[in-house]
Amino acid sequence: MRTEDQMLAMKDEMIAIRRHLHEHPELGLEEYKTSAFVASRLAEWGWSVTTGVGQTGVVGTLSKGTGRRAIGIRADFDALPIDEETNLPYSSKSPGLMHACGHDGHTAILLATAKHLAETGDFDGTIHLFFQPAEENYGGAKLMVEDGLFERFPCDAVFGMHNMPDLEEGVFGFKEGTLFANADGFNVTLTGVGGHASTPEVTRDPIVAGASIVLALQTLVSRNLDPMEAGVVTVGVFQAGRASNAIPQTATLTVDARAFTKEVATLLKKRIPEVIRLQAESFGIEATISEMTGYPVLVNDAAMTKFAKKIALDTVGAERVIDLQRSYTGSEDFSYMLEKKPGSYLVLGAKNARSQPLHHPGYDFNDSILLTGAAYWVDLARAFLKAG
Ligand SMILES: [Zn+2]
Ligand SMILES: [Zn+2]
Repeated sequence: MRTEDQMLAMKDEMIAIRRHLHEHPELGLEEYKTSAFVASRLAEWGWSVTTGVGQTGVVGTLSKGTGRRAIGIRADFDALPIDEETNLPYSSKSPGLMHACGHDGHTAILLATAKHLAETGDFDGTIHLFFQPAEENYGGAKLMVEDGLFERFPCDAVFGMHNMPDLEEGVFGFKEGTLFANADGFNVTLTGVGGHASTPEVTRDPIVAGASIVLALQTLVSRNLDPMEAGVVTVGVFQAGRASNAIPQTATLTVDARAFTKEVATLLKKRIPEVIRLQAESFGIEATISEMTGYPVLVNDAAMTKFAKKIALDTVGAERVIDLQRSYTGSEDFSYMLEKKPGSYLVLGAKNARSQPLHHPGYDFNDSILLTGAAYWVDLARAFLKAG
């Protein structure tokens, strides 16, 4: 019998868990209730539980037999500062907060995995389940790694998954190499000399300097990048001035940079502040730049991705397995775990009639893929431990 069919008896319970998490969203590093909830379920099912890993992260560990291999599987559990507009009976009970990325679903998938593995127990080796905080903002994966994740819970490989509302329901997507972009950000304050709009000669106008900076930044991708490489530079915020007859003292800009290789990321990181500073200087404007380091490029190990894909082919069949043709321009902090351990990040299609994009106020995780995802983790863990 397929693992997913064996798990059908827990379907209602797991959907209830997912909806409970959905009703109680918490922001990154504030996931106290979520983390306590996860810890108590794991303990109830016989997992040994470690809390406070990377602040609010939780690790569940279960060993069977004499096998020496170990696998790590990760789910994120933080929510977003978005006002939910789904009108669902289990809508967020916290105004302004919402599970709009499906991390409630990822967590429920991993909890279903935990329950089934504990009940059946038929594996040989050690399984670590990493319930990770703060994927959306503070890089919870990095915090867990820095908190000694792989020293305290050693494993031979690590895997993670994200639901994708624009991919057909139940379809698994794989890609070797780069899957998510590097993201870096810069906060810029331009300080000039304000004054009356009618006497620009006695001012130093940060708006004109800012406008010039915005345009100059567009040349980084077009003039500095190898034409065969890809990058994105976006000015997402440009704020200045309040009166039509006044030149303001300051202007603020934010710059968001995306790249698919370390080399391009390094180039943009060097050139963006350089261009801003020199442009500002030419207008007699002072530029203060603070860098917000984002998540590094997510690179899937080739062998582990082949392995993960084979499990999907064996369990759900070729018609529900695809090779992703391109990387996502978004970023994902699972990259920090993949920098330390071989592994793979995959996507699971979640498209249905009600699908909205990730981070949309009308988005809701598709419960129909809950057991599909969990059964896949169960099969993957068993096969990985056996493969040694
Ligand atoms: Zn997200
Ligand atoms: Zn997400």
